[in-house]
Amino acid sequence: MLVRRACYRRLPGPRGLPRTTLFHHRLLDDIGGRRRPTCMKCRFRAKAKNAVACRLHRGSIDSPRLLTISTLSDGGRCGGVSGGGQVTKCLPAWLPHIRSTIDCPRCPEPIMPSDDPAPRPSPPVGTVHLDTLAVHAGEARQKAGDAITDAIYCASTYTFTSTAELIEFVEGRVLREEYGRYGNPNEKTVEQKLAALEGGEEALVYGSGMAAFVGLLMTKVNSGDEVIFFDQCYHRSREFCHKHLSRFGVVTHEVPTGDFDAMARAITPRTRMLISELPTNPHLTVIDLEHFAQLGRKHGVETLVDATLATPVNIQPLSYGVDYVLHSATKYLGGHNDLLAGAVIGTREKLEPVRKLRGILGAINSPHNLYLLERGLKTLGLRMDRHNANGLAVARFLENHRRVERVYYPGLPSHPSHATAARQMSGFGGLVTFLLRDADWRETAAVVDACRIARIAPSLGGVESLIEQPLVMSYYNCSPEDRLRFGIPDNMIRMSIGIESADDLIADLAQALR
Ligand code: PLP
Repeated sequence: MLVRRACYRRLPGPRGLPRTTLFHHRLLDDIGGRRRPTCMKCRFRAKAKNAVACRLHRGSIDSPRLLTISTLSDGGRCGGVSGGGQVTKCLPAWLPHIRSTIDCPRCPEPIMPSDDPAPRPSPPVGTVHLDTLAVHAGEARQKAGDAITDAIYCASTYTFTSTAELIEFVEGRVLREEYGRYGNPNEKTVEQKLAALEGGEEALVYGSGMAAFVGLLMTKVNSGDEVIFFDQCYHRSREFCHKHLSRFGVVTHEVPTGDFDAMARAITPRTRMLISELPTNPHLTVIDLEHFAQLGRKHGVETLVDATLATPVNIQPLSYGVDYVLHSATKYLGGHNDLLAGAVIGTREKLEPVRKLRGILGAINSPHNLYLLERGLKTLGLRMDRHNANGLAVARFLENHRRVERVYYPGLPSHPSHATAARQMSGFGGLVTFLLRDADWRETAAVVDACRIARIAPSLGGVESLIEQPLVMSYYNCSPEDRLRFGIPDNMIRMSIGIESADDLIADLAQALR
């Protein structure tokens, strides 16, 4: 439930301001442009004189981090920013004042307890439902042009009104945009939405999932360091570690997925990161996250979970004590097979150096792309419900089909990870992998080719169903020995189940498997 709260307090004026009546709209409401601050509950309107209205500009629903001064009604000046019209920045020196708020005196009941703690970094999941966060978190209540949707800020750079304003910024007293490689408003919206969805303090969005993976590891490891990952993983993540991190003197160890003893044995004083996917791709193994996070903590090693296949709808790894959660947002988060993006979510402190390196690497998204991602995220909950239901229905159908030897789907009791998955996850996603009985690679390809709804393509997590034979799609150039090692037999088919009707998908598979 979204609660509107509005408060005011008589404050000693921050730099450059007289004593001030400050209205603080802690959640999504603001008075955008009206000259008199108004309590959103009782509609009490402040005296215009010396009143400053603030609106939530950045930060998640319950966590204002940057407040925009939207009206300075006495036409005065505010910390060097012109008043009388739209004033668009808030000096960090104001924030402690703004955060210490009291109730509106006219409201019949308190709307914010006087002992209200300092704003939390992000609303704990459960305060509002994830579906509500997906639609609203990270977004201003009142937007440019009074539009309900966010503007797409096609700007490579951001202007300053004066050298004085620039100095305020470079000396860290003002938070704002500067240059496109370091951030843009669309990026901030998406990052705050993702942080809220994962229950993390901060998110960093990248141009792709791989860019996020590379950006994180390049920040966290140095020459001579070691990383350990579970061996069922996206083949390009494996390739980056083995082929490229090694060029910088970083050693990579692989251990069997879910074998925590083997992982513990592989840890040395130089180990910097433990890495796992959840569920893994394409075998859909689900590791015990509590065990994983504990192992990292015990040895003082950071932990990373690529939860691309799960999404925050099905699991939130940070709540288990994992340090970083990573997504290929190209998949379910975007959800429409129309963009590439990636994200890492974690604490502000741990991500700060990662953000700085991203600004140098330039592994960022265009504002257009970010808008598409924001739009996709709004329907994440709806889509995942359908992916989860369809995935389970298709997996059950396949498991009972005479031509199917084995189905990998963590929602099926026959999957080795079923108990762990059922305990940790609220849904099992839309990826289903299966082996055809007594089929060589050509017979397997014939089934893929016979499907009329699912299209042949790499990727997963979009509204359109996709089908592929991993042998041909991703492992064609691997030796038979490597394919055996990676668990990719010739008769394997991987389907990304979309949001079409499950009945239609099953009927289509039935005719393809005839
Ligand atoms: N992680 C997983 C589990 C993936 O499946 C993929 C891509 O398929 C990636 C990361 C890389 O994401 P992107 O293609 O957005 O770079």
